[in-house]
Amino acid sequence: MLQINKSFQINQIKNSLTDLMGISLFVARLDEIHSIISGNKIFKLHHFIDEAIENNHDTIITFGGAYSNHLVATAYYANSIGMKSIGVVRGEKPDTLSHTLIDCMNYEMELIFVSREEYKNKDKKEFINQLLNGHSNATIIPEGGYHPLGAKGASLIMDTIHEIEPSHIAVAVGTATTMAGLLLNKKNDQEIIAVPVIKNMTDIYSRLEYLSQNNPFIKPVIFNDYHFGGYAKYDESLLNFMLEFYREHKIKTDFVYTGKMFFAVMEKIKAGYFKKGSRVVCIHTGGLQGNFSLNPSSVFFN
Ligand SMILES: *Cc1c(COP(=O)(O)O)cnc(C)c1O
Repeated sequence: MLQINKSFQINQIKNSLTDLMGISLFVARLDEIHSIISGNKIFKLHHFIDEAIENNHDTIITFGGAYSNHLVATAYYANSIGMKSIGVVRGEKPDTLSHTLIDCMNYEMELIFVSREEYKNKDKKEFINQLLNGHSNATIIPEGGYHPLGAKGASLIMDTIHEIEPSHIAVAVGTATTMAGLLLNKKNDQEIIAVPVIKNMTDIYSRLEYLSQNNPFIKPVIFNDYHFGGYAKYDESLLNFMLEFYREHKIKTDFVYTGKMFFAVMEKIKAGYFKKGSRVVCIHTGGLQGNFSLNPSSVFFN
């Protein structure tokens, strides 16, 4: 079976703060799986792609907005294994396409633009069939891979992380699918830390119930105060943090997801949340292409 590379390294980062607090801090470099494709997306897609291959499907259809990391990851994955992909994009076609959508097209994804109103039907069979226009040989992947199969794929991330024997694993949360995967494959005494990048995300537990198929799941710890105003919102302090973090550790982060997650973890280290001897792994989920939507002068490592 065709597979694409999903292996990643884990780097330790040390600074005066980790020394002072007596903790070990690691970064799981899923961002290095591909320069623009978010590493967690590749994992979430894993079982969908397997299913598509098993069912002899020749097409994958999925959904997302104009800046969706999921959309471009699907385009890339499908293209690299010789499968056709269709991306259903939320909103009318703009005069100039986002860099994300241009990348999707470079990976030969067919884009179908639908109004925001129509897009609300994205999970309805009839709507999808209409988009597929009689083509029955397609695998359907929900927006963001938000599905138990997506979580099952994300659970594979933990197979690599176990070797570090972490006490805590931190991840940025959008749909909560990646976090659900980490929870499904964690050891008893490990704590999964969720950093929602959306304001007032109150439905994490019901999402987890769906994603884990009602298996009794262990609850994550949620650091709720690091959304910076909401999805894709940011301020100077976040951008400054990202620059500082890059200067110190040579690790690029994005302002939508990983910048907020690292910011949260560093603040919690300062506040003494992690006891001496803790082994904290931050999942760098990638998403660096998101920074291209910022003014180029604001993130110098772009
Ligand atoms: C999509 C994405 C996330 C969020 O993953 P979910 O599984 O939707 O919670 C986190 N980080 C990056 C970089 C992403 O692209």
